[in-house]
Amino acid sequence: MKEFHDWLNKKYYYYIVSFIILLMIAGLVIDNPINSRFVIHSVIVTIISACLLIYPFYENTWVRYLTVLSSAGYFYTLFFLYPETWSNFVLLCFIPALSIMFFDKKLFYFSMLLNVVFIVCTFSYIGMIDKGEIYPYIYEDMVGNVVNFIASQVLLYFIFHLTNLRIQKQRMYYEQMQQAERMKVTGQLAAAVAHEIRNPLTVVKGFLQYYAEDEILREKQNFPMMINELDTAEHVISQFLSISKPDLAGKIHIINVDLVLKDVTELLIMYGLLNDNSIQLHVEKECHVSANSIELKQLFMNLIKNAIEASSEGGAVWVTANKEKRNVIIRITDTGRGMTNEELKSLGTPFYSLKSKGTGLGLMICYNIVEKYNGNITFQSAPGKGTTVTLQFPLVLV
Ligand code: ADP
Ligand code: MG
Repeated sequence: MKEFHDWLNKKYYYYIVSFIILLMIAGLVIDNPINSRFVIHSVIVTIISACLLIYPFYENTWVRYLTVLSSAGYFYTLFFLYPETWSNFVLLCFIPALSIMFFDKKLFYFSMLLNVVFIVCTFSYIGMIDKGEIYPYIYEDMVGNVVNFIASQVLLYFIFHLTNLRIQKQRMYYEQMQQAERMKVTGQLAAAVAHEIRNPLTVVKGFLQYYAEDEILREKQNFPMMINELDTAEHVISQFLSISKPDLAGKIHIINVDLVLKDVTELLIMYGLLNDNSIQLHVEKECHVSANSIELKQLFMNLIKNAIEASSEGGAVWVTANKEKRNVIIRITDTGRGMTNEELKSLGTPFYSLKSKGTGLGLMICYNIVEKYNGNITFQSAPGKGTTVTLQFPLVLV
């Protein structure tokens, strides 16, 4: 399905690009004598056409910047080569609009800044050197033209801002849908697999424990190690089972987040001390949510544990909770290893773990619990700088 959409989008992209190239060629050849300005004009048309045509194959920042720069070059060249065509000035105002097509924030600000610098230079040239000889329509009403230029930039900024907001919303919706789909599949998988594996494991563990009591056998075999490994396997399975049957954990109550966070941090303080990590807790009063306390503990435990595990020696983990509008916002921040965008995309995928002893199930459980209580979870992270996990739950007024 995605491939189909890509193909469809590509098709439309090429229709539009072909149309743009045709327009540029028309502007170049119609009523234009072949001389040096024709040559400069055609070189720039060729560069832009090449950028636009190769963009789908090399969708990277460089090609985007090159396209926007060469387009800016194109419009300014038109402006200076054909001073008699006053409408070229209008085109200059709309140069940043090109980067809206690429939905790239940095590129948009870059092209807007560049355009402002170019316009200041152009106007200074017209005001001080040209003095209305070639560009009378600008020189005679400098103030009006400057105001028009500023207005066009503000307009573009709003268009960009609104388009960007909309796209972000759609992207979030798409990610949530993907996550929900993942959860559904893994839930079913968990129920099927966990039962099948748990029973034989219990039998084997029982026999091992039984043999471990025999002194002669115990000396020859590594029973403690075998039992230990089976314990780990059992731990993974119970985590999995808690996903497929989350209701097992019990009933829903109105819970004071403060108390649950205190319980969890007290449990984890010792764990943090192993690596000299401290946990700083700051919770606003009366942060109540409706949930099951065991599941909420499980959620905080997984997230704080991850934060500690990601921290380097001596690093602190901040846990804060406060009320914002009609929600309780809980933030868990560490200054540890952080994650790349690729890693962020994989969070919540079963068995995704970069730790040698990780199960890769913790976050999957977290997503499940958050979804169950109509909450929301987001990760902000930068490699080498740290991570902030933000949880949002509807506030319950007591
Ligand atoms: P596990 O902790 O068993 O590896 P999780 O599902 O809890 O499984 O986490 C999955 C992976 O996400 C981790 O292995 C780690 O790479 C990454 N991760 C989670 N939280 C953080 C964090 N705070 N900082 C850096 N990486 C993290
Ligand atoms: Mg974990």
